[in-house]
Amino acid sequence: MLGRSYSFGKLFGIDIRFDISWLLIFFLITWVFSTGYFPSAIPDGTPMYYLFLGFLTSVMFFSSLVIHELSHSAVARRNGLAVNTITLFMFGGASNLEEEPQAPKIEAKMAFAGPFASFVIADVFYLISFFIPTGVAFIGIFNVFRVLAVINLMLAVFNLLPGFPLDGGRIFRAIVWHFNKDYIKATKSAVYGGKIIAFMLLSLGLFGAVTGLVAQGLWLMVIGSLLNVLANYSLDQTLAREELSKVNISGIIKKDYPFVGIDTKLLKAIPLFFKDKTNTLFASKNDEIVGYIKLEETRDLSKSDVQEKVSKLTHSMGESEALKPDDSALEAIRFMQKKDISCAPAIIDKNHRGMVFKKDILGILNHKVKGI
Ligand SMILES: [Zn+2]
Repeated sequence: MLGRSYSFGKLFGIDIRFDISWLLIFFLITWVFSTGYFPSAIPDGTPMYYLFLGFLTSVMFFSSLVIHELSHSAVARRNGLAVNTITLFMFGGASNLEEEPQAPKIEAKMAFAGPFASFVIADVFYLISFFIPTGVAFIGIFNVFRVLAVINLMLAVFNLLPGFPLDGGRIFRAIVWHFNKDYIKATKSAVYGGKIIAFMLLSLGLFGAVTGLVAQGLWLMVIGSLLNVLANYSLDQTLAREELSKVNISGIIKKDYPFVGIDTKLLKAIPLFFKDKTNTLFASKNDEIVGYIKLEETRDLSKSDVQEKVSKLTHSMGESEALKPDDSALEAIRFMQKKDISCAPAIIDKNHRGMVFKKDILGILNHKVKGI
């Protein structure tokens, strides 16, 4: 859903990035604080002073948001889920989870960690404000901490609203999932929660806009619409997953697909990507799958590099990880997502192996959706 993003650098091994849309919100928040909030809170400052306070507020706000996201990531990691990136964008931050939590308790803990961190930050900023000396020189800093305490408190409360994909919606899903043991149905109810909240925000925003609070009203309407879009997107994804969980891959395995020997020279292996129209080739040794190579990783090879063997670029993967014909299409997609590849080997029987392609799985989906 996000466009191009850029990296700030790494924190605890997680790449902290920002989407281009984040720059807009960063400037908007700085501008709102340095031309609106601070001039009215501290009447006799200079424009440069207000700009400095606005900028500081913005930087500290987004740092708080990164801490919120890092808290989600810390709990995810402690439960064995990999988080590689956190991306700031126009409407907040997003942790990119490689896979969804497998148990409701983990999901609930993970979801709660973010708002909990925001509550703690709000308290800490509020406490710090008491230790700032009184006097004209410190009134600006005092206001920065006070307003950030309020913003972080609002961030925590807003995120706890029980609508998916907000953190509160994830907690809501985890609770339903815990009781009904049905992940898909639980997600559906949390998504409907999200749509109800989106509708409430839209109505409240509209009410505000027509009764004089135009800017605040419009902002609530924007947030409400965004939440509605996100809820619809999550619903589509959930329905697709539900469909994919019902079909197995036996019908779409391309039989007797060739594997490339691990000791083959890259020079000879690379043309196979184009011959087989794939961006992943599976490598074998003594007739057993040992890993795979990706087309994108062969793009910048030098003339001497291509004389090397396939093993040089191989990501290891055991034969036992390969798919089986009665695996669901959902399991196949998850497998590919986890490894960031678009096809996967499947073992039909002792002598027959085949390949499953992502595009064929998506084909099942289009067919099914059109068929409804
Ligand atoms: Zn969160």
